[in-house]
Amino acid sequence: MSSKVLDKISKGKVWKFFGGIKPQEMKNTSNCVIEKLKIPSLITIPVENHLGPDGEILVNVGDYVKGGQPLTVASGRLVPAHASTSGTISAISKNILPHPSGFSGLTISIKPDGLDEHEPYDPIPDWKSKDNAELLARIKNYGVEGLGGASFQTEAKLQSALKEAKDGCNVLIINGCECEPAITCDDRIMQEQASDIALGIKILKKILTPKITIVAIEDNKPKAIQAMETACKDIATIRVIPTVYPSGAARNLIKIITGIEVPYNVHTSECGIVVNNVGTVLSVKESIVDGKPVTERVITVAGANFKKQGNVRVKLGTSVRFILNNFVLNPEYQQRVILGGPIMGFTLPVIDVPITKAANCILAPSSKELPKLKVATNCIRCGRCARVCPSRLVPYQMYNQSVAHNHAAAQKCGIKDCTLCGACAYVCPSYIPLTSQFRYEKAVEKHIAEAEYRNAHTKERMELKKQRLLAEEQERAKKKEAALKRMQEQKAREAAMTPEELALYRQKALEEAKAKAKARKEALLKGESANSNDADKSEQLEVLKIKKREQRAIDLVKREGQAENPLVVARLEKEAKEKALLAEREAQKDNLPYNLRIQSGVREDKLEITPFKIPVELNKEPQLVGLVPDDRLQNPEGKKVIASVLQSAQEQKVVNNKLPDVLKKKTLRAKR
Ligand code: SF4
Ligand code: SF4
Repeated sequence: MSSKVLDKISKGKVWKFFGGIKPQEMKNTSNCVIEKLKIPSLITIPVENHLGPDGEILVNVGDYVKGGQPLTVASGRLVPAHASTSGTISAISKNILPHPSGFSGLTISIKPDGLDEHEPYDPIPDWKSKDNAELLARIKNYGVEGLGGASFQTEAKLQSALKEAKDGCNVLIINGCECEPAITCDDRIMQEQASDIALGIKILKKILTPKITIVAIEDNKPKAIQAMETACKDIATIRVIPTVYPSGAARNLIKIITGIEVPYNVHTSECGIVVNNVGTVLSVKESIVDGKPVTERVITVAGANFKKQGNVRVKLGTSVRFILNNFVLNPEYQQRVILGGPIMGFTLPVIDVPITKAANCILAPSSKELPKLKVATNCIRCGRCARVCPSRLVPYQMYNQSVAHNHAAAQKCGIKDCTLCGACAYVCPSYIPLTSQFRYEKAVEKHIAEAEYRNAHTKERMELKKQRLLAEEQERAKKKEAALKRMQEQKAREAAMTPEELALYRQKALEEAKAKAKARKEALLKGESANSNDADKSEQLEVLKIKKREQRAIDLVKREGQAENPLVVARLEKEAKEKALLAEREAQKDNLPYNLRIQSGVREDKLEITPFKIPVELNKEPQLVGLVPDDRLQNPEGKKVIASVLQSAQEQKVVNNKLPDVLKKKTLRAKR
């Protein structure tokens, strides 16, 4: 930026941006002091971020969290989400998010305990002596994002200004315009916390070292101008600018303050200009000087259908329904609840959505305040929309292309440059919903871009896979060829040998192969080999088995080594008792007759059947019970056999009486 321009800026020159409108202000809440809303019965913190992927979740259902505790991890352009009060995580599930489409996303629900306990605050009192890296890390980790509505990560914006701007940051603009009708939260912050904002500006100045620092405030906020002038003496210049909508949009504000029109494909910080909202500056101060993460924000509750209107500090994640109930909404027929202002805001499809950092207003207007949307008629080519568009677009052309699903043509018309300010729809005499259509078109463009990216990525992966498979095939063919060649050479060598030489040669080859296999196994055991050929797989399995066996042995030693541990002792004693009991039962079973042993569950292969031995005398016929005639039972040897059988039965009876009930029953049944 040339010194001439800097001179002009310092002298207080104010430029005009193209287009813009002057809607009815509706700022009747600018005198309402910021209240504090009580803690709701449920807090729902969205995990999804519109600028990046979902944050990695750090908590589980049932965990107790304190206010300020991080719930997700910061990565890339993503800042962590923090618990806004103390309580228990009741669910991690999909819920409807504050978006015109009513789409749902992953959220963390907290059931507050009502104590509102916080993690201990960690201020950096000597921030003036700290380096930028530490301050920027703090800004990121404490969840500071743009509170003006865009929710752009503040740390990324500051980093970009430090790295990408050729000659550093030239102008730091603090945005206190709040140009949209009905919203007064920034106005109230400037009136009530001007000194805190001034401290935040000091921190930003320390990080960026800008040549000029300007606080831009619209001329419809005299009290805020006065408060900021008092607080920011010697820190920044207060620049009062005319009230025109949308002067608060970053590019329009840069044009007003510096006269520079930043191209739409260039980031503002690349031009050495950084724009930060007053709410964001306050968050920077709180994160560094107070050590407090962003867990709440100020919003305006406006609309004639509320019993009470005003500005209120709410915990992030509070439901819109809870706020409506607290401000007592008397809904009329087909009541609209708008999140944001009357021009850039959108009607909520449901009111059970959480307040996020991007929400700055809840509007429940009466039909007099904001007449119901009229039925759109045909475009009369009046050109009013083009005359008010600050991005110098031709909205009706863009609209026609979008309605015809001609997305490429809509892109050519400059849909990317549309800031969705709503000025065109505001002036359209045919009530054509231009902004809604552009919002839809942007979503479609995003979807198409994502699909194209995915397709390109898949194509690239497929191409790489093809190349890999081809390379593998070539490698296999080469190996096969080499193996064939080796075999032929081997055959030729063996053919030239005598039988003795051949035997010796084979013996030697076998020994070498064995030694090689042994070495490989040892290497595998040591974990040195990374070879995973098919041939090695069985060996690796074998090694794994050995390792497992070793591990089991080590575990056993460890367990025994813990003999002092009462738990281990108790377990070992229990195991020993169980073993003894089993052994006793087995012993009892062994005494049973064969058929009962089978019934009592003793495995047949374990049984040793020892038949009764009848003493046989030489030259005498053997005496067998049941196989001899009755008169032979008079034989003394036969009597002995019968006596031994009877004795055995008697003993069996005694044993049976000692048996457990289950076995006794079985025995009785067998007897019957
Ligand atoms: S919504 Fe888009 S097209 Fe309409 S005035 Fe704003 S920037 Fe221009
Ligand atoms: S303002 Fe409405 S009617 Fe007029 S040209 Fe634009 S779209 Fe058509």
